[in-house]
Amino acid sequence: MSALIVVDLQEDFINGSLAVKDANSIIQPIIKLLDLNWDCVIATKDWHPQNHTSFASNHQVAPFTELEFVNPDNGAETKLQTVWPDHCVQGTDGAKLDPDLEEKLDILLPPTTAKIVTKGSLKDREYYSCFRDCWKLDNTDLKDYLKGKGVTRVVLVGLAYDYCVLNSAVDASEFGFYTYVLKDYTRSVYPEKDGETDAKYKSSGVKLISFDELHSMGLDVPITNC
Ligand SMILES: [Zn+2]
Repeated sequence: MSALIVVDLQEDFINGSLAVKDANSIIQPIIKLLDLNWDCVIATKDWHPQNHTSFASNHQVAPFTELEFVNPDNGAETKLQTVWPDHCVQGTDGAKLDPDLEEKLDILLPPTTAKIVTKGSLKDREYYSCFRDCWKLDNTDLKDYLKGKGVTRVVLVGLAYDYCVLNSAVDASEFGFYTYVLKDYTRSVYPEKDGETDAKYKSSGVKLISFDELHSMGLDVPITNC
């Protein structure tokens, strides 16, 4: 069983406060991918309260500054993490999925099932992965959902290649899914560092593939309405 995971195709990452360069160019190609014979399609949403700790505005520093964060559970372990412009605040227009994607999710044909997964609602920790927060303390329901459906293979696309797609794919691989990323269907916050980012995927057992390579997995067959 195979799942397509569309990561954070939300207004703030496309045209808004944290727009990823050239993000618009991947939207229609991703929507076309939903026509293939997936068993499940997952769309993830960054979904923060206004007082979220990943917002620079909550630390009185400039966006894109690196700050030291403390593990909210044990108060001991620390990590340097980037703080961002306010983005994807719950209930705002910036947090909405791209409208064409949203519409497509509503009309997916059986047997494909669709699910929206939100992440980032606990204010005291960063979440890049759609499976859990950066401290690996709080899990979304995605892993159990996919395992419950019998999914063994996941293919990820979306935004951004070097943050949420990366961390989601690394977790998927760690959780035992055969994990693939269609790199042409992603865009990076820092494309100039894609070489380093590629290496992080590869060292985690994630395969970077092209659309043509879906063929060998039998995933290039459009679903027909019959
Ligand atoms: Zn966020």
